[in-house]
Amino acid sequence: MSETTWFEEGAPVAVLTTQPLDRLLDYRAPEGGCASGALVEVPLGPRKVLGVVWGPGQGGVDPARVRPVNRVLDAAPMRPEMREFLARVADYTLTPMPAMLRLATRAPGLGDPPSMRRIYRPGSRDPERMTPARRRVLEVLRSHGGLGFTLGELAGLAGVSSSVVKGLVKLGAVREEESPRDLPYPRLDPGHGGVVLEGDQIAAAARLREKVVAARYSTTLLKGVTGSGKTEVYLEAVAETLRRGRQALVLLPEIALTAAFLSRVEARFGARPAEWHSGVTMTERRRAWRMAAEGEAPLVVGARSALYLPFRDLGLIVVDEEHDTSYKQEDGVVYHARDMAVLRASLCSAQVVLASATPSLESWANVEAGKYERLDLGARYGAARMPSMAAIDMRAQEVPPGRWISPALRDAVAGRLDRGEQSLLFLNRRGYAPVTVCRACGHQIGCDHCDARMVEHRFRKRLVCHQCGETRPIPATCPSCEAEGRLAPVGPGVERLAEEVRALFPEARLSVLSSDLFASARALKEEIAKIGRGGADIVIGTQLVAKGHNFEALTLVGVIDADLGLQGSDLRAAERSFQLMRQVSGRAGRGDAPGAALLQTWQPEHPVIRAILSGDEEAFWRAEAQERRAAGVPPYGRLAGIVLSSPDAAAAFDLGGEMVRRDAPLQAIGARVFGPAPAPIARIRGRHRVRLLVKAAKAAPIQRALRDWLAQFRLPANLRLQIDIDPQSFY
Ligand code: ADP
Ligand code: ZN
Repeated sequence: MSETTWFEEGAPVAVLTTQPLDRLLDYRAPEGGCASGALVEVPLGPRKVLGVVWGPGQGGVDPARVRPVNRVLDAAPMRPEMREFLARVADYTLTPMPAMLRLATRAPGLGDPPSMRRIYRPGSRDPERMTPARRRVLEVLRSHGGLGFTLGELAGLAGVSSSVVKGLVKLGAVREEESPRDLPYPRLDPGHGGVVLEGDQIAAAARLREKVVAARYSTTLLKGVTGSGKTEVYLEAVAETLRRGRQALVLLPEIALTAAFLSRVEARFGARPAEWHSGVTMTERRRAWRMAAEGEAPLVVGARSALYLPFRDLGLIVVDEEHDTSYKQEDGVVYHARDMAVLRASLCSAQVVLASATPSLESWANVEAGKYERLDLGARYGAARMPSMAAIDMRAQEVPPGRWISPALRDAVAGRLDRGEQSLLFLNRRGYAPVTVCRACGHQIGCDHCDARMVEHRFRKRLVCHQCGETRPIPATCPSCEAEGRLAPVGPGVERLAEEVRALFPEARLSVLSSDLFASARALKEEIAKIGRGGADIVIGTQLVAKGHNFEALTLVGVIDADLGLQGSDLRAAERSFQLMRQVSGRAGRGDAPGAALLQTWQPEHPVIRAILSGDEEAFWRAEAQERRAAGVPPYGRLAGIVLSSPDAAAAFDLGGEMVRRDAPLQAIGARVFGPAPAPIARIRGRHRVRLLVKAAKAAPIQRALRDWLAQFRLPANLRLQIDIDPQSFY
């Protein structure tokens, strides 16, 4: 797959299509011939489907029946390195190739001819009457060269309404013209902005630049507390990549973070980069995909799926907040974006920078093993320091029933209010109360389709299943014993905590940051910006707030239930709690005032709580590494999760049992299979779920063994089998 081959018209070619078939299909090269990698439209039965010319035809079909390719699409051919990448991901994750191709061609209108759109460029004269709004429009046009903008882009960048732009068109100060739809992205100027680096930042940036120049694959863990300047440092690596004329990709874990990041890129490089995530318009997706392929998108900022964009010459991938669980895609193609970023970079001689304040144990272990280099940024930039951290021992606090804020935490918040500083109360539970119980019969309201309790959301006036999203009105009577008015909420959610805060601090301006309280990503973004401007005294937040937002006036973080998550059956429970709490506490004291973090806990002597309080992360990691090594689990062993799901529980268990009995291919590599067991969430959307877990030594060829093993079984109708290599969650 390393070279491009040319096929003359009529020559047999093998085509990979996006259709769920387990093989390539033979066609004839179209009029004018085609190259391997060409994106094509081929007939399949009565339909026309998208495909990629994968290689020479395989034969074995009556030549008279081989149909010709309909046409070669007007899009850059898929590069050999990209085809290799898709094949390797497929191999690693046991995903069929058509699904990989779908992932790599998720841009609309790939088959369409190039179309036109209206753009705006600088005109020939200045307007007679200059207003501040008009000036901003003209400045935006001037500062970005002659490329032009759409109306929406121009008005947005200048912060004016579209009528201001239209007005300037009438006056001849702005030109309106038709241009091909997929415009190249503006050039980014590596020397435009940037700060003067200090301390550890200098050496770290120099090292990254050096690696970019060397243009050999390597991965670097860039570690430093929130605010230590990781972003400034990796933007230097981006700058060097741009100077070399190569492309860069920055992955962010959360769409809500992109807006702030794009503005930062603009300040640093003088223009906005391409954007790729589920919130981007279809037109923009199409443009980003095409320009990535043509090398006209120097920088792409996006979600994990941006990894499958057809970059022409990718030289750098940054995975920001590399420990974030959202990098693991859990349905469809199940893959971990961090690990696949490393794979992709290794195929195209690119650098990977993994940035985090609290790296995953996987990355930490790869550094220990000498596979990754590690660069540490020490103190926070400027005056801000890590917050002081202390536990509030809940055993010694008097908290009335139905209340969650201890007197100690209440006093700390009151102190901040007096000084005009912000407090954040962190509780990782959406809704009003996690459980609704009948005081008459003890019945807990559960979801009809899932093995999960319904969560009361008072704001929406409904019960919601957090598994399947099913909602229903809050009933007046108990569904089990029909007693009236006896249903009661148990435990806290953010909405209930908000109630308590309003009662305790009626004067304070309160903001609740929970994804389900906002109608749109934009509304949430606006609220976050408002908090950043000091528009709230007390913020209540779920894990949403743990992710890198900058609140300068925030000086206190109170963790309502630090014990949540310590008790999970998940092998990463301790690691996750550790990361989450360090991230959350890292929110405090980013401005000039020092911050404090208070952790409410019933078990202050728990090793994770103690590690957080002591601030000795290396000690935590060493201890955690030792436990995992002893247990032979990741990152020191390999796991593969199998979920069988079916409306018929017995069918799933029967197959699971048979799979365990016929495990010779697994035994052959020294792997073991555990189960079948009901999954922790034993039913989702009416399907019963049964789990098997395969455990193997780190170096064992687990994919091959799994393939041989699974090939033995036929799936009954309606039974689904999902494989998860390196599972992150075990629900
Ligand atoms: P991190 O990515 O580690 O959270 P950032 O790179 O976002 O840290 O830095 C935190 C803040 O400090 C940002 O506003 C950044 O611009 C600023 N900053 C960091 N280093 C410097 C520096 N050397 N000079 C000026 N400002 C800096
Ligand atoms: Zn449900």
